[in-house]
Amino acid sequence: PQDNGRFIYASEGMRDIYEIELGMLQKDARTVLERIHPLDLERVRASIRLSALQMSHWREAYRVQLPQRGLRWIRGEATPEELPGGGTLWHGYVSDISDLKRVEEELRALSITDSLTGIYNRRYFQDRLKGEMLRLNRISGALSLIMLDIDHFKRINDQHGHAVGDSVLQELCKRIGQRLRRTDVFCRIGGEEFVVLCPNTDGAQAYSLAIQLWQSLRDAAMEPVGVVTASFGVASWRIDEGIDGLLLRADSAVYVAKQAGRDRVQVCGSGLE
Ligand code: GH3
Ligand code: MG
Ligand code: MG
Repeated sequence: PQDNGRFIYASEGMRDIYEIELGMLQKDARTVLERIHPLDLERVRASIRLSALQMSHWREAYRVQLPQRGLRWIRGEATPEELPGGGTLWHGYVSDISDLKRVEEELRALSITDSLTGIYNRRYFQDRLKGEMLRLNRISGALSLIMLDIDHFKRINDQHGHAVGDSVLQELCKRIGQRLRRTDVFCRIGGEEFVVLCPNTDGAQAYSLAIQLWQSLRDAAMEPVGVVTASFGVASWRIDEGIDGLLLRADSAVYVAKQAGRDRVQVCGSGLE
């Protein structure tokens, strides 16, 4: 109970998992705590204390920093038993789950990435927008959306084929991605429809960014297609507005840009239109 535990039994595998000699583990369990990542240590300590206090099953996943193999993920499980002298004896196991964690991270990355362009997908956009709206300061916060839809994209497909259409989508993402700031979140939300979510960005800033993006498409042709343009809609969050309202205004700004002749930036609701 006073953090002065020891492993009365430790199998050979414990040496590999913690890179600590078994003799050492049998003398002093604190050597294990020294291996645990500083960011996880308090959580692990707390759950061990709780398990002893409530005689409840202990289960935890945490990182260790090892001298030889570096950062690894460990999962441990153990059942406590009260000892007559007042101590606690746990029976359990630990295992290395680093491979599992890596696969989990890869799957997570895949699930939020658009496979053609490598930028974020629609699902991520929706999650992120929800998150940003929750974080937003309801009085002084700023948040803008820049939505864009490629002009006459169907023609590009019809004249040059689907594969060229695909490469236009990739090139557009490359050009736009280069102009964005680190905090901007660039997503493909439809076939040839994209959105840039700009946290902490007011209408004027978003408009000037949208102009740069629009210009980056007009600057140079995309061979063999020629110059590819897009219609941009900008909407900035208004006090008391919800997600749907903001999205609708960004969407209708794109619609207005299309109606007005395409290849332009249309602002909705920041006094600039
Ligand atoms: P507008 O200027 O009004 O936006 O005209 P548009 O032709 O761009 O609009 P529309 O929505 O009619 O056409 C979009 C086309 O995008 C239709 C679809 O075949 C094509 N498309 C959607 N996803 C992909 C894709 O992943 N690759 C390719 N090559 N084409 C796609
Ligand atoms: Mg479209
Ligand atoms: Mg289009």
